[in-house]
Amino acid sequence: MQRILDPGQIEAFAQRNIQRLRLPDRARVFSTRATRLRQQSEPGAIGHSIGDYLQLMAHLADAQQTALASIEPALPNAEQVTHAQTFHMPIVAVGSWRREEHWRESLRLICDALAALPEISGQVRSVCDRLRALKPEQLEAQAEDLLGTQTSPVDAASAPFVMAALQVYWVALASRMNIDDIRELDVPGVCPTCGTLPVASIVRADSRSQGLRYLHCSLCATEWHMVRVKCSHCQSTKGISYQSIESGPRGIRAECCDTCHTYRKILYQEEDLAVEPSADDLASLALDLLLGEAGYRRVHPNPLLWNPS
Ligand SMILES: [Zn+2]
Ligand SMILES: [Zn+2]
Repeated sequence: MQRILDPGQIEAFAQRNIQRLRLPDRARVFSTRATRLRQQSEPGAIGHSIGDYLQLMAHLADAQQTALASIEPALPNAEQVTHAQTFHMPIVAVGSWRREEHWRESLRLICDALAALPEISGQVRSVCDRLRALKPEQLEAQAEDLLGTQTSPVDAASAPFVMAALQVYWVALASRMNIDDIRELDVPGVCPTCGTLPVASIVRADSRSQGLRYLHCSLCATEWHMVRVKCSHCQSTKGISYQSIESGPRGIRAECCDTCHTYRKILYQEEDLAVEPSADDLASLALDLLLGEAGYRRVHPNPLLWNPS
């Protein structure tokens, strides 16, 4: 006998089958970003006017990929996993997880790799030298500032490099995690792995996630599902509009909310398979300027572009 499902059952069935979480692939997470950054810096691409900056960030992403291969941080134990699940908390939350010194080793590797490049400017080289000369406790204090657990002034020039090393450490954790240990949080706009805000969202086109929208964590690169046409900041479904740069790429837009007057970029793989949230967010800086003029506020900065406002 044929079984007919009512709409509620169909939805429940669909929900069960949605891939709700995507953890970063540590074999290629940063190298994919580097490739996209280079692509977007070329003549005719959206980021060509800030091409030198994107090229520098591409070198940084290459160095992150290399650094990622050399660290193997300790993962949360069973008790920590159960604790996070019981209290609906991120499993390796930036505010409470005791990060190991691995991240400082990653920072050293990143600075060494950048300083060794012949095309790097004297300014970048001096930032790297400055970071390499800092004591562990000074670096830890900078990390605390950048991760938002302290509120002292941040050294803007070195912030992207420190954040890059912290990304390596948290991606190393997220990419080794058992996906079933990570549960959805009560706050849908926050990364369920590390508790950081997303840098952008991406509508995927691969067979498992066709047409689904994911928020992409700015720190650990975990992606988690959120329905489309919904503000990822205040969860409103009313007054959502999509803005893009006139005659710019169709795969990069901003999801704007007229309830909380914020926006977050949204990328469409169906328009361009190569979109990458962090790279395309940086490359489309012109869209941020446009939205600022239109009165929309950006919720969370790209960690590689320090903007204290
Ligand atoms: Zn995260
Ligand atoms: Zn909103």
